[in-house]
Amino acid sequence: MKVYDLDLIDLENFIESIGEKKYRAKQIFLSLYKDRVSSYDEMTTLKKEFRDKLKNELIFSSIEIINRQVSSDTTEKFLFKLEDGNLIETVLMPHDYGYSLCVSSQVGCPMACSFCASGAYGFKRNLETYEMVLQILNVEKISEKKISSVVIMGIGEPFLNYDNVIKFIRIINNDNGIAIGARHITLSTSGIIPKFKDFENEKFQVNLAISLHASNNELRNKLMPVNKKYPLEDLIGAIRTYINNTNRRVTIEYLLIDGINDLDSNAKELGKLLRGLNVYVNLIPYNETSNNDYRRSKRTNIFFDLLKKEGLNVTVRKEHGHDIDAACGQLRGKMIKGDK
Ligand code: SAH
Repeated sequence: MKVYDLDLIDLENFIESIGEKKYRAKQIFLSLYKDRVSSYDEMTTLKKEFRDKLKNELIFSSIEIINRQVSSDTTEKFLFKLEDGNLIETVLMPHDYGYSLCVSSQVGCPMACSFCASGAYGFKRNLETYEMVLQILNVEKISEKKISSVVIMGIGEPFLNYDNVIKFIRIINNDNGIAIGARHITLSTSGIIPKFKDFENEKFQVNLAISLHASNNELRNKLMPVNKKYPLEDLIGAIRTYINNTNRRVTIEYLLIDGINDLDSNAKELGKLLRGLNVYVNLIPYNETSNNDYRRSKRTNIFFDLLKKEGLNVTVRKEHGHDIDAACGQLRGKMIKGDK
């Protein structure tokens, strides 16, 4: 087993299973996530004999930083190599309230959204929990910055790697560890409807964001193939149920692509779809990539006003790292293609 795969309860169960006292688990958890030790030898509160036992059973693993880009706005992008050689990206973004980290949940992505650089490279595998936890630990170590919020919006579809992602959330949210408050964690999904109920049942205070990006089925089918399986009316229904049962506001992400989904008619349709729901629409400026012909919308402010007129809550996402290939999957894509 990998030590960073275990939440506190798993660790307690494991410790008891090898005949040690349960409270030792908390000591280990604190050393890992508060003191940030990277070997058992550093856990000096534990007897040598016990440490040796742990060494053989619970393995420390690592991911290797192979590229780091810093943007003029101090956004940083990290490319990590996993133990099996696969590459993943993590992005650190400055905000006035602190730093947020955009974490990847899969190697590549199976969703094949037509606008996304990651979709073009296909899907390799799910990330293990430890590979997500290590994105945080490594970025904090390398950058010497404290991360105050986490968005699970990097490469991959988190609801297709549900169990590992949930365990990741439990680990980073635990008060004895990295202690990122649930309200400072956001999970973004393309709309895998069957997982909404499971997520609701976790009884988390974690934010849920939905990548909508289109206002009707025809358009959404073109942009996001997932819509053929889970069409818009079902998705909106699932969002409504989630909101009713959790009393939590949901974020609707809407990417603005020139001439594709930024028309007056799209704003009207969105108004109809979303009115009365406890959501806010986050308009995202499109990051152009070399994988397609989509261009950034020139109507962001107009579209914003149109949605306001429709009676929706709406914000425009602040841009980060425009000068460092910050679009989802771009850096990894370059490395795969061998451009750099
Ligand atoms: N699979 C999940 C999470 C990863 S994608 C999801 O679909 O939500 C994170 C967000 O980045 C999604 O809203 C996605 O649509 C968006 N995105 C992908 N490519 C982009 C690009 N080139 N410019 C801006 N946003 C992009």
